[in-house]
Amino acid sequence: MAARDSNLALKWPVDEGDAQAQPTNPFVSISDVNLTYGGPGGVLAVEKLTMTVREGEFAAVVGPSGCGKSTLMKLTTGLVIPQVGQIAVKDKPVTGPLNIVGMAFQNPSLLPWRTTLDNVMLPLEIVSPHRERLKKNRDEYRAKAEAMLELVGLKGFGQKFPWQLSGGMQQRANLCRALIHEPGLLMLDEPFGALDAFTREELWGVIRDLHQAKRFTVILVTHDLREAVYLADRVFVMSARPGRVLLEREVGFPRPRPIEVTYSSEFNDVVHELREKIAEARADTPQIGAKN
Ligand code: ADP
Repeated sequence: MAARDSNLALKWPVDEGDAQAQPTNPFVSISDVNLTYGGPGGVLAVEKLTMTVREGEFAAVVGPSGCGKSTLMKLTTGLVIPQVGQIAVKDKPVTGPLNIVGMAFQNPSLLPWRTTLDNVMLPLEIVSPHRERLKKNRDEYRAKAEAMLELVGLKGFGQKFPWQLSGGMQQRANLCRALIHEPGLLMLDEPFGALDAFTREELWGVIRDLHQAKRFTVILVTHDLREAVYLADRVFVMSARPGRVLLEREVGFPRPRPIEVTYSSEFNDVVHELREKIAEARADTPQIGAKN
């Protein structure tokens, strides 16, 4: 039977002095991008997509289903190249898959034949320069992976296999795997979507504290407006397909944010504002709710 993960608190030192620092330098710049799938006459997924995410910022992207959120993730990481417009990450044009990115999706997809620790260490076997260093420095890397597991509340679970862990624990390990190579950019595509409400809130705390401690740049794609408003410094609302940014909403709640923030009327006001904007975006399209 899978272990339960209640009471697994993240013990990560949070620097409250830094907590209010506002990111300013652009890290991801997307300018006037068009992406059509399937060649001329195909599906225009995003059009005139323009957005800038600052270094160290936690950005969230919300919008109706099929508006191009996953396409935005693929464009940013160089998995697809736009026909029109420019994308730059850390001042370099994106011309192919980036290795300074960590990614986590809804399905943790940990390899069932590897222990949790070996799953976390997997990117080190793939991504340069760690791949070249791993043989010589395996013990050091292993210690780092163990420290990361401890930070997300999984101390002592490194030798368990993924199927021995609960869904929430698997997602914690998945976040460690996404961050083990210390990427500058973390892309999260609905990472908490399959979890129950309590576990999801626990995981919000985990990612909040990891971001606070390490200050990587995050782009989170989510359907959950509360999640977006709780975690993000800025929320981008996308239009229905072809996707573009309809609204950028700064979220100014001070950090570190306790979960109680989500019960405040100010918080609910922001959530309602975003919900109304998305309802407008859906009403503007003949393909309401359609994925294709
Ligand atoms: P979202 O993540 O917001 O649901 P996607 O980025 O997955 O949206 O897709 C945007 C639009 O592009 C959708 O209409 C989708 O059906 C279409 N699309 C996505 N991938 C492909 C593909 N490989 N070929 C053709 N159309 C695609």
